[in-house]
Amino acid sequence: MSYLVLARKWRPKTFNEVTGQVHIVQALENALDSGRVHHAFLFAGTRGVGKTTIARILAKALNCETGVSKEPCGECSACQAVDDGRFVDLIEVDAASRTGVDDMRDLLDNVQYRPAVGRFKVYLIDEVHMLSPQSFNALLKTLEEPPEHIKFLFATTDPQKLPVTVLSRCLQFNLKRLTMSQIVGRMDEICTAEQLDADAAALKRLGRAAAGSMRDGLSLLDQALAYGAERLTDADVAEMLGSMDRHRIIALLDLLVAGNGADLIAAIQDLDELVPDYEIVLDEIATALQRIAVIQVAGADAVEDEDELESLVRLAADIKAEQVQLYYQIAVTSRHDMTLAPDPRIGFEMALLRMLAFCPAGQAAGMGGSKPVAPARQAAPGVSNKRQQTRVQTSPVPKHESPSAQSIEQPPSPQPATADPEQVAVEDIHGWPDFVAGLSLDGAAHQLAAHSALEAYSPFEIRLSIETRNEHLLTDKLKSRLTLAVQQRIGSGIAVRFAVSDNALETAAARAVDDSQQAQRKAQDAIDADPDVQQLVDVLGGEVVPNSVQPINPESSTDQDPG
Ligand SMILES: [Zn+2]
Repeated sequence: MSYLVLARKWRPKTFNEVTGQVHIVQALENALDSGRVHHAFLFAGTRGVGKTTIARILAKALNCETGVSKEPCGECSACQAVDDGRFVDLIEVDAASRTGVDDMRDLLDNVQYRPAVGRFKVYLIDEVHMLSPQSFNALLKTLEEPPEHIKFLFATTDPQKLPVTVLSRCLQFNLKRLTMSQIVGRMDEICTAEQLDADAAALKRLGRAAAGSMRDGLSLLDQALAYGAERLTDADVAEMLGSMDRHRIIALLDLLVAGNGADLIAAIQDLDELVPDYEIVLDEIATALQRIAVIQVAGADAVEDEDELESLVRLAADIKAEQVQLYYQIAVTSRHDMTLAPDPRIGFEMALLRMLAFCPAGQAAGMGGSKPVAPARQAAPGVSNKRQQTRVQTSPVPKHESPSAQSIEQPPSPQPATADPEQVAVEDIHGWPDFVAGLSLDGAAHQLAAHSALEAYSPFEIRLSIETRNEHLLTDKLKSRLTLAVQQRIGSGIAVRFAVSDNALETAAARAVDDSQQAQRKAQDAIDADPDVQQLVDVLGGEVVPNSVQPINPESSTDQDPG
């Protein structure tokens, strides 16, 4: 006996067996009971949600020899022929493979003839949006004046592509995606009936992977049964799907929240031994973050039967909403970047380190439980695979930030953290030139800071302007270095915006020039007034060479050169 795939073997044969789509089944049953059945139906919905299944049951209900009813007998020759796909008056067409006008004309030529054996001649056209314009025209003529013995059942995944003239002559039903619990429930029924031993967690994982499509879900179940041994376990399914245990995803998020870079690297190392599909792992992280965001706004009840619900609720309390958004953003964009990474593992590791780099300093504090809380940004350069090496690297503050940390702008958080002892209050920005002096910047980034003037600031944002002649300093790299330096002092929640403006606001560089000119004048005056010097000038007939006099404090004369 040949093996019949589960999706076909367990295709519902009555309206009662249809999973979900309650509103549609109800409407069809009412129509059948009242005897007033429209001549053209359009079933719209994504793949594998039951469009053609419902259409076939309707065809059976219309042609059952015991009479038109919502409960076809399933025993008569008409019912059995429909179930076996050999009922002569049910004409099934897949428009995706049959779009020519000739085909459609051939088909519709027979419309005028009465059904051979049944009560109605039923045309079931799948993916009807794929028909050619000529085919639609041919069809439209019949739809306008349908013979009484004709029923059209159209199915489509893309109703937008249907001509309005056709749409307006159909009764349209939109099928919903199935929920995970609906799919899992059906799988459970099938496993019980087939006497298959399956872990609940394994079915849940398959149900989640089905993404709303019953057919996809049952195909995955088929695959898993072929893949696994006698018992369907979560581990087998995870391996088949290239996914991983949910608790590992939670553990990664926990380490991120704790800002624990060293253990995070170690966890990725452990993960690598399972040879996972890193794109899927990133997807799962993104999915978990989405669940966390939902819990934050709508509570735990809004999340459908999650196996790790408790952990997700805990994380929802631990991570700030905007941080969840940022993590999610990094997860989905990194998935895209993964194709550009040297290998998927590196892409994955960088994605998590990027998340770590943007952990607000104040948030990490006090959240890691008994684990040591390393300041997040310090761990960012720890890209190495070697655990010990990264442990060492977590202690010193790096002079330069990693490129990955610079590439994403930090969205402002409502309350910039100021818990770090090295940090200063946001008001200190008011004395911008002094503030610049306290930034750990060198080279061109320092030049940018020194030539920027403070236009405005708030706890969330600093606006800097730079004169046109110094515009060349406004590179992305220098801007992000300055931004990070500011965030180190004020808190990672603050954003820095730059604008080009020739308003004469005070820059650190301009003040340094002023200061040094003043010092120069003072020194010159002091020399001129010195009696010993005067005597030398008088006796030897010499003179003091202008600008040969330098102020004693060398620091006040640095930064005169804007280049
Ligand atoms: Zn029947």
